[in-house]
This record gives sequence, C-alpha cells and structure tokens, in this order.
Amino acid sequence: MAAPDFTLSAGPVTVTARTLAGLGKPILYHYDPEFRATFTRTQDKVAQILKTSNDILLMQGEAIVGLEGALRSLITPGMPVLNLVQGVFGKGTGYWIADFGAELHEIEVGYDDAVTPEQVEAYLDEHPEIRMVCLVASETPSGTVTDVSRIGPMCRDRGILTYVDTVSGVLGMPWETDEWGLDLCVAGAQKCLGGPPGIALVSVSERAWEAIYANPAAPRDSYLSLIDWKEKWLGEGRFPYTPSVSDVNGLEAALDQALEEGVDAVVARHEAAAHVTRTGARAMGLELWAVREGIASACVTSIRLPDHIDNALVRDHAREVYGVMLSHGQGAGNLIRLSHMGPTAGGLHSIVGLAALGRSLADLGVTVDIGAGLEAALGALSAQRL
Ligand SMILES: *Cc1c(COP(=O)(O)O)cnc(C)c1O
Repeated sequence: MAAPDFTLSAGPVTVTARTLAGLGKPILYHYDPEFRATFTRTQDKVAQILKTSNDILLMQGEAIVGLEGALRSLITPGMPVLNLVQGVFGKGTGYWIADFGAELHEIEVGYDDAVTPEQVEAYLDEHPEIRMVCLVASETPSGTVTDVSRIGPMCRDRGILTYVDTVSGVLGMPWETDEWGLDLCVAGAQKCLGGPPGIALVSVSERAWEAIYANPAAPRDSYLSLIDWKEKWLGEGRFPYTPSVSDVNGLEAALDQALEEGVDAVVARHEAAAHVTRTGARAMGLELWAVREGIASACVTSIRLPDHIDNALVRDHAREVYGVMLSHGQGAGNLIRLSHMGPTAGGLHSIVGLAALGRSLADLGVTVDIGAGLEAALGALSAQRL
C-alpha cells in the first residue's frame, strides 16, 4: 500500500522538509568534534523548550526508554508513590511502580476525565508518607490533560518528588519545568515537536539526582541508566553507547524550527488548531470524548463513537478509502482521534481530518452533518486569521 496522502495521526507525526533534511545529513563518527558539538547544542535547545536549567539527557530508544529508566532510578523498595491515572499511559505507569517494588497509591478517574489538583491535595493531606507523585501531563490516547501547573508546585512545596510523562505535553500545552518545580520530565520528539521517533528527552533536577544517588537499585552500566549519561557523557564527555546520529540531527532541526517560531507561539498554534477541530466536530453532530472542554488536550481531539461502530474500523476506512491516517483509541475507549500535532497543527489540516472522519462515519452508517461541520470549522479558522 502506498503512503497516505495525509498523516494526521497522534505520533509519530508528519515532519517538515527541513526536519527530513536534518535526518538526511551525513552520518558522522559520534566522537567527531562536529557531532559532539551538535549533541551539546541539541541538549541546550531541549532545555529551552522545557524551560529548565536542569540536566538534559538525550536517551536513544523512544520516550519509553526515558520513562522506564527514570522510574527505575527513582523507585526504592517499599517507597510510597502516588500515581495519577486518567488514561492508558498513567495506568501503565502504575504497573511499573508496583513491579519495581514501590508501595502503589492511586487516584484513578474515568479515561474521559482528569484528576484534579484538589483531589491530589486531599490525598496528600491524608497520606503524608507519599514521597513521589507520578503523572501524565497529556494522555494522548484519550486526549485529556492534567493540571501540572498546580500539582507540580504543590508537590515541590511539600518536598515530594514529581515524575512527569510529558511526551505529548511539551509544545502542546504551556510548560514551565523550573517554575513548576518538576523533578523528572520525559518528553518525546515525535509528537508536538514534529521530530523523529527514537529519542527520549529527559530533564533531571538536583533533587531528583539526590534521590537517584541515594537509591542502590538505580540502574548503572545499563541501557536504562540515567547515572551513566550523567557521569560518562555530562561528566567525562564519553557516550555510554553510540547515539543515533541521524535522530539527533533530525531532532535539532525540529528544535530549531520550534525556537524560531517561539515556544509560546507553537503552543498557541496547537490550541488554535484544537479550537477549529472541536468546533467542526461539534457542528457535525459528534460528541467530544473529554467530559469537559477544559481538560481536552490541544494536540489531539478525541471523539466519542456510537457503541456499535468500532474505532479501529473507522481509522482503517479513512486510510483505505480516503488516504488519511487517523488514530484510534489505543485501548482508551471507543474513540477516534483527529490529531493536530507538530506541522499538522494549523491551517487546513483540521479540515482534511474532519472531512475524512465525517465521510468515513457516513459511509459506515452514522448520521453526521458533514457540511455543517466543515462550514463551522472553516468559519473558526477564518476568524483566527482575519
Ligand atoms: C507517545 C507517548 C509515549 C511514548 O510511547 P510510545 O508507545 O512509544 O509511542 C509515552 N507517553 C505518552 C503520553 C505518549 O503520548
């Protein structure tokens, strides 16, 4: 099957020609001074989009390597950890926490809802033993966000560590690693940044390093080790293993574009695209997945499907018949996602996604007013531009 005409999936996303040109640069020896300089520059640019002066580690192997390595580094046996669950990735974090030997506490809500700062505060008041809070800033499979801006400072003020999956949060929502006192953040390149999959962007605070060094179980001499990156690369200029040279070049190109546009402008572009998409979906007669608009993410718009329509079928139909790759619910529920991430956050991409979804649903027997949806979305788009 040929490549789709449009990739409007929830990551990896379509990347720009400039990012592709970065990926296509000559592959240098990793100790070539030119590549060493590129690597260091790229770390600094990641720090700029995360708004932090913490150490940045670029771990090769997709965001999951950073998420798992960081959690293994922080968790000590029996440690009381509070995990916030409002979707698939949060649920998975809980399985890891228990598996790595911590005492697992959870606040869990429906996957169309969000854990509130008030719930976290009440739980922490009742359980002063909690030493770390784990949360997912943006639950991509269901398109909801958590209020990190309030939960982060709350934990910092109580001396509780924070472990934050912001793989699709960074650039998809306002982000302040240092101002919010976030200890351990893991971001991804292949979501709102519009870079290649295959690299984890990890920021580690001083307090997190203290916890990691106090943990005899923290991985060392391991692919999952954060300590190896700190001591070998940041400390001695020696890579723990060969980085993927092309991914680093592609990442730097994506970062350059985001920084030239401006971090706040990129976030605003995602929010604007989300508004256009939600407006169109509602006018088409579709129901948003998130129970309230305030918790709907700006990087994907999730739409609730009627029970008898299978979400994977809708995704496959839009791809096969209309050449548009959408994302299904990935186990989060019977939903379909119109993604507006990276280069696809803006302009007519939302219109293409809405048209492909609307027509696919109609083909599958669902009553939708495609014309009204596209009209409303175009109206919202022009209102932003004129
Ligand atoms: C994409 C993503 C990840 C990385 O997971 P993959 O399954 O490797 O794509 C982790 N957390 C969140 C919230 C994500 O959106």
